[in-house]
Amino acid sequence: MEWPRTPVNRLQDFRPRFCPRRNCRYHIRSKGFRYRKHASYSTVRGVKIPRFRCLGCGSTFSRRAFSLAYYRKRPELLRPVAAGLQAGSAHRQLARTLGCAPSTVTRISALLGRHSLLLLRRALAELEGQLGEDIVLDHFETFELTQDLPFGVATAVGAQSWFVYGIDPAPHARTGRRTRHQERRRKQRPRRQTRGGYVGSTARTLDRLLPLKPPDRRLKILGDGHPAYDRAVQQHARSNEIELERYPNPPRGPRGSPRSPRAVARDRAMFPVDLLHGLLRHSLAAHKRETIAFGRRLNAIVERLFLVAIWRNFVKGVSERRRDPTTPAMRLGLTDRPWKWERVLGRRLFPDREGLAGVWLDLYRRDWITPDLPSNTRHRRRFTY
Ligand SMILES: [Zn+2]
Repeated sequence: MEWPRTPVNRLQDFRPRFCPRRNCRYHIRSKGFRYRKHASYSTVRGVKIPRFRCLGCGSTFSRRAFSLAYYRKRPELLRPVAAGLQAGSAHRQLARTLGCAPSTVTRISALLGRHSLLLLRRALAELEGQLGEDIVLDHFETFELTQDLPFGVATAVGAQSWFVYGIDPAPHARTGRRTRHQERRRKQRPRRQTRGGYVGSTARTLDRLLPLKPPDRRLKILGDGHPAYDRAVQQHARSNEIELERYPNPPRGPRGSPRSPRAVARDRAMFPVDLLHGLLRHSLAAHKRETIAFGRRLNAIVERLFLVAIWRNFVKGVSERRRDPTTPAMRLGLTDRPWKWERVLGRRLFPDREGLAGVWLDLYRRDWITPDLPSNTRHRRRFTY
């Protein structure tokens, strides 16, 4: 995968390869793009930043338009916020440590989530037609705002590489026992969009996985016994190209009692996704059981999950215990070394150029709103979109 080793904002001889303006015909199409050097400016710290003029649309832009520091008052915060969020810190905690406003951390967190989503999308484009492993699929359960508003997140993980291929939310009704008061309160809440719930999010995950498999191979999914997986596969237009192997959760005795052979087989098959869910619960304060640091909106929670997915795929070695720094992205041949956060954040990605569509585009634009909350800020920027 082509990705700068030196962050764009530190490159000595940076040359733009397309126009950063969305309305320019050379934004998506790089062929025929021409530019002129257009002087430079110096930052407060005395760093000289080159400027360019696009000969297609005539607009001028600087090198910064291609880095995540673009329009950021405190770009130096991006890296520590990414590391802190991954380590499970809450926004206020991070703001106190870094000496900035909590709202700054919240905004950076959203930016990091969007960037991670685009980076995952770019990695998937790179892997098209090359999938050589089974995919373990399971839903990670959490909630937005209150336990009345639960949702699952479809997580697709490579059986051998442990690469996180996909994340897709599936809001569903609250289950389990509740008091009459809880039930009355639940019924008064505005209706959420479910977008097909479990079946919908599974189908969308399949849609993202199918282009990755070689044409002559079937996509093999390992899942637990959730009926939504059967239905999503049966209803899929390309169901004959998908093979679903089910490992239903067998009944288990009390903690510490020996596992039945079926339980052992299930645990072995589902291990990569169980491991990911463990990492998610461990590294996100919002997903620890019985927490008070819960996420307030689905869109923001999912942004944070994308960030963890990128950390899992590109930064974290497969085993810290055995000191194996090999990352899932290295196992897939996307890169030859583990990335530091600085490299993850080394350049800016543009949604129009990555061909974002469907639910991932909605998540990018923050269009998946939480109707219980009075305000839902969408992501609509002219230059920093
Ligand atoms: Zn242009």
